[in-house]
Amino acid sequence: MAGKDYYEVLGVGKDASQADIKKAYRKLSKQYHPDINKAPGAEEKFKEITEAYEVLGDEQKRANYDQYGSADGPQGFGGGAGGAGGFGGFGDAGGFGGGGFEDIFSQFFGGGGGGARRNPNAPQPGRDLQYQMTLKFEEAIFGKKTKIKYNREAQCHTCHGSGAKPGTTPETCHNCGGSGYVMSETNTPLGRMRSQQVCPVCQGTGKEIKEKCPTCGGSGHEEERHEVEVNIPAGVDDGQQMRLQNQGEAGQNGGPYGDLFIIFSVQPSKVFQRNGADIYLDKDISFTQAALGDEIKVQTVHGDVSLKIPAGTQTGSTFRLKGKGAPRLRGNGNGDQRVTVKIVTPKNLNKAQRTALKAYAEASGEQVGSGKGNFFDKMKDAFDN
Ligand SMILES: [Zn+2]
Ligand SMILES: [Zn+2]
Repeated sequence: MAGKDYYEVLGVGKDASQADIKKAYRKLSKQYHPDINKAPGAEEKFKEITEAYEVLGDEQKRANYDQYGSADGPQGFGGGAGGAGGFGGFGDAGGFGGGGFEDIFSQFFGGGGGGARRNPNAPQPGRDLQYQMTLKFEEAIFGKKTKIKYNREAQCHTCHGSGAKPGTTPETCHNCGGSGYVMSETNTPLGRMRSQQVCPVCQGTGKEIKEKCPTCGGSGHEEERHEVEVNIPAGVDDGQQMRLQNQGEAGQNGGPYGDLFIIFSVQPSKVFQRNGADIYLDKDISFTQAALGDEIKVQTVHGDVSLKIPAGTQTGSTFRLKGKGAPRLRGNGNGDQRVTVKIVTPKNLNKAQRTALKAYAEASGEQVGSGKGNFFDKMKDAFDN
């Protein structure tokens, strides 16, 4: 896929923000998802989109790409699986640790022989699938175990993928000798033209099935409703992906199953904001709490904790609650919660409060208002003098 302009693939400008890129990717990947879009070319398009996002969605890779340009960009990343330092969002996914989360780029950039003709008899891995999963704010922070169900092309249970009736085996195609391609010659005004075509007998598979499997009709695949258990790690974030090996579609010629990519979409919280492992909370306090100091109760995702407000706190001050954020995917405990206090001015004072505040102003040597208090009275006083 070298030579593709990733910006063009995602339909964004060169100056697009990360948010724009993410948005464009989400929209397109939904549109071309092979599960939804069965049109020819949709799968290819879907892979292009994913590839483009892996690069543009990561500042570092994007910078490399911008530097090398569209033609040389992918070479700069080199070596597919070898370059497993991580691509974009998958770099993050790689940090989930344990099995199952590997570098997807062995799939997309692997082998390196993009232009080479494939041997039709060689085992080919099945298609990768994508599954969009929405998580509640807290679910993303604490992780959860869940089961998902989706349709996929599985290996036919009758013929185990061969496509041949049980008891028989596919034979080498008599028409193309197993290569999957035939040469054809046509007469044109310019002379005889030779061209290579996909073998019409075996459709390029190189094999001929004399007696087809009654279950799958020779395709070797059948659609199944597949269920898989997903162990969502604590601390996943919006837009991150998780790879479940071999949970995609069945391969060809005995090739392995493709993989399933779960893409997380995390719902916002009404209370908290989150940035990576850190969580943010705004908290209202009164003028007296700020001036005299207090100990207040603060909500965290781990439950309420008490926070000391020192005397003389200014509005907008931020306090750190260490370890009260979201777990970090790569281990190393939790992020922090940052609490920003906002001093709220009382809107309606009762008589006792008003008197007290006036006394306070007086004690501070301030002249706030006049005896009558409001703006019009003051204006009136000014004109009377
Ligand atoms: Zn079958
Ligand atoms: Zn053939």
